[in-house]
Amino acid sequence: MDNKDLIKRKLRAKAEARIKKMPISDLDLTIEKAKILMHELEVHQVELEMQNQELREAQHLLEEARDQYTDLFDFAPIGYLILDEKGVIENINLTACSLLGVDRLQIRSKPLSAYMSGEQSRTLFLNLRNAFQKGSLEPFELQMTRNSDGSFTALLQGTVTKDQTGSALCRVSLQDITEIRKAEILKRQHENLQNEKEKIQQYLDHAPVIFLLLDNEYKVEMINQKGIDLLGYDKKDIEGKKWFEHLISKKTGTPKPEAPPAFKQQELLAKPYFESEVRCKNGDLRLIGWTNTSLIDKFGDSLGTLSAGEDITERKKLEIVKQKYTEDLEKTVKERTKELSEALEAEKKINDLKSNFITIASHELRTPITIILSSTILIEKYNKLGQYEKQQKLIDRIKFSVNHFKVILDDFLSLNKLERGAIRVHRKTFDLEEFNLQLRNDIEGILKPGQRVIHTHTGNKKVVQDRKMLRHITLNLLSNAIKYSDEDIEMHTMVKNGKLTIQIRDRGIGIPLEEQEYLFERFFRAKNVEHLGGTGLGLSIVERYLDLLGGSIEFTSALGEGSTFTIELFE
Ligand code: ADP
Repeated sequence: MDNKDLIKRKLRAKAEARIKKMPISDLDLTIEKAKILMHELEVHQVELEMQNQELREAQHLLEEARDQYTDLFDFAPIGYLILDEKGVIENINLTACSLLGVDRLQIRSKPLSAYMSGEQSRTLFLNLRNAFQKGSLEPFELQMTRNSDGSFTALLQGTVTKDQTGSALCRVSLQDITEIRKAEILKRQHENLQNEKEKIQQYLDHAPVIFLLLDNEYKVEMINQKGIDLLGYDKKDIEGKKWFEHLISKKTGTPKPEAPPAFKQQELLAKPYFESEVRCKNGDLRLIGWTNTSLIDKFGDSLGTLSAGEDITERKKLEIVKQKYTEDLEKTVKERTKELSEALEAEKKINDLKSNFITIASHELRTPITIILSSTILIEKYNKLGQYEKQQKLIDRIKFSVNHFKVILDDFLSLNKLERGAIRVHRKTFDLEEFNLQLRNDIEGILKPGQRVIHTHTGNKKVVQDRKMLRHITLNLLSNAIKYSDEDIEMHTMVKNGKLTIQIRDRGIGIPLEEQEYLFERFFRAKNVEHLGGTGLGLSIVERYLDLLGGSIEFTSALGEGSTFTIELFE
């Protein structure tokens, strides 16, 4: 028996009971009356059945409405609950139950504050109290606990109404806004970061140096305004591009510079400082000094490199100019110092020469002057006596002394001129035979009695040389040979392949071996010539003349056996 049948039976029982209570006169019916009554009853029954049908339909509609309401209430997309003034849950939909993670049967008549911390429940009560006073629950947030699974941020709002009994109730909507809040926090953080980034970018843009951030593939992550201005590109043309391939130059003047190989790029960026040229949009190359910092995340992985670049093009140019200027200056100072020290040296030499001249002149020149003086007195005397032979001897002595005098003066004058750099080479072609003839005349006065100069020659007789210098050199060597020997002197000249060789050999006192190395030093005189006149200047002058002519001199000598001096000169 179903529920409807049960209700029908109960109704029938109630109707029969009512009929039994009706007055008996009504039951005293004629057939006619009974028929009429019967008809009315049938009509009434039909009416009742129709009413029943309407009631069933109305009930059906009500059930449908109830189902819809339940569906609407329980499966609404937001949580919904009804609280009394103490915050006890009167009713709750399934969405709210699932938000709180509890079964509906367990939660009814429980306080909502059971699903939050003590502090949060105070917030709830305050808001509820306000709501019951004002008639509406203003939106507010609570941190609620989910039965089994952590917590969530809930947004509550609602209105206050009264139930059939007149008790006030608050209808509350409950929404999980955790994700919204998280998203808002993230958005705020993102905005903050963005602001920070913009701020930093502004600082970087106003910095007087280029800031460049490269990722691990050397792609430009960020470049500041200074860099953009310098390079002349648009930011979008640079950012994301491989730095070395697009903008770095290997050499000045290269129109399209090649990027250094990858390992070099790594090597460069690992250095705390390096200099490289950068190609600007207009083709200019600028020299930049880069200071680099490797960026590493908290796990120790590389994020890239931050480089601060300073345009040092002009500074470098100035440095080069300065360097060159300094070098030139140093060179000039060196040259001037050299010139000055040479001048000082020359000055010193001239001063030495002067003082030496005074010393030597007082000794060396005294002898010929005394000879000349005494000879002239004697000549006068012999002239009176008519002793012409003796007179001639004295005249020869005068001639010798004058010659000696002349040689000494010549040496000093030559040296003085050489020291001042006043002697220039003048080469001319001349005949060697004629040259020798003149030499012979020159030495005639100084030859010792019986002493000869035996001259031989091989080769061409025409030479191209500075005749004056050559005469001075040869005379000097010959006069030494004459002075330091008593025997004949051999002189051999030879011209071969543009080379002139003059060799002068004597069989005289020779030069001590241990003193030979000092022979060409000025004022040097060997120990074995102290008793003989001389200035010690001749050989040093010879050497200086040969230097000017690009010639050379050599000698061999043995004590007591003689010396051989050989000079060589090229045309
Ligand atoms: P001087 O002959 O006036 O002393 P020189 O410069 O001509 O000066 O010669 C330097 C020294 O070399 C001489 O003092 C002498 O000791 C030595 N000397 C030069 N030529 C000869 C030579 N032919 N024989 C021996 N000694 C010589």
